Amino acid sequence: MIKSATVSNISPDEKEWKPGEWPVVGHRWAVELLSGAIASGNVRHAYLFTGPQSIGKTALALAFAQALLCEREERPCGQCPPCRKVLAGVHPDLRLVAPGYGADAEKAEKSEAKSLGIDVVRFLRGEAALTPFEGNWKIFLIPEAENMTPESQNALLKTLEEPPPQVVILLTALREESLFPTIVSRCQIFNLRPLPALEISEALQKRWGVAEKRAEVLANLSRGTIGWAMNALGEETILEDRQKKLEELIELPDAGLVERMNIAATWAQKPEEAVALLELWLGWWRDLLAVRAEDKAGAQNLDRHRDLEKQAARYSVTQIAGFLSALERTLGYIERNANLRLALEVLMLDLPSPA
Ligand SMILES: [Zn+2]
Repeated sequence: MIKSATVSNISPDEKEWKPGEWPVVGHRWAVELLSGAIASGNVRHAYLFTGPQSIGKTALALAFAQALLCEREERPCGQCPPCRKVLAGVHPDLRLVAPGYGADAEKAEKSEAKSLGIDVVRFLRGEAALTPFEGNWKIFLIPEAENMTPESQNALLKTLEEPPPQVVILLTALREESLFPTIVSRCQIFNLRPLPALEISEALQKRWGVAEKRAEVLANLSRGTIGWAMNALGEETILEDRQKKLEELIELPDAGLVERMNIAATWAQKPEEAVALLELWLGWWRDLLAVRAEDKAGAQNLDRHRDLEKQAARYSVTQIAGFLSALERTLGYIERNANLRLALEVLMLDLPSPA
């Protein structure tokens, strides 16, 4: 069975959506192509959904599966038994191929592996050979398909080359380059792009009843990823935590060198948070550049526009652009496992002096 927790985390409450409306925020072009394929009977055997984290790849794949399995005219209706089973994560013809799939429950529980090994794909091949239990389709959803080992990808390729007639395989990945080209060439590809902040803000207000102001702040911070915004809804501290980090950031230009080095040392103790912090800084400095260019439309931190304007006035465009490169360089060093403390100290030295 596909894990119910996974489904309820990524697919919104069924009550919020009308019959025939896909439970997906944005990506209308993709929804239209996929529903058109169902209506015209041109469903393919493999689809690949790519795009940044939390952009809605798995939600779209699940909605497609639901539409395929739905037994009513307006699909997905959200109400027929197959739709309900998909939402509850218990439809026998929709399988979530994630670590632990095919293993017995106890082994799956213990497994901490992220990679999808050859056993998993062998099990998939066995199940794909069986006829569907209930409907017309046997659907396999493989989220984060880049976690498949080379052997697994080769084994999956065999299924993609000669797919059993009722099998549909849905893969998601950050980038198509992380999969074998031979796999990619067998899939119809849907490259999902970040959504406009306005679309996210409206969805948060209309579907999840979020107050306008909060919805706007979250939408601006989400970088076009609805999944991030929805996660942030459940975590009250996200916005407070951001305020605290922004205060530190705003005071930074006036801090002395010793103080800056102390900040570097503190963040070096928290490697996982350090990356998120630098991304917040990156967003802030991009906003400073946008303010200087008088093009604030896409800015992330518009709720702090007074601070942005004050700080932007203290730097030249060259200084801002220079520090943005330094931030990107630092993130690159961290990704390549450089010494975090050293990388942060160098960054602190790169901070331009304000006027
Ligand atoms: Zn239905």
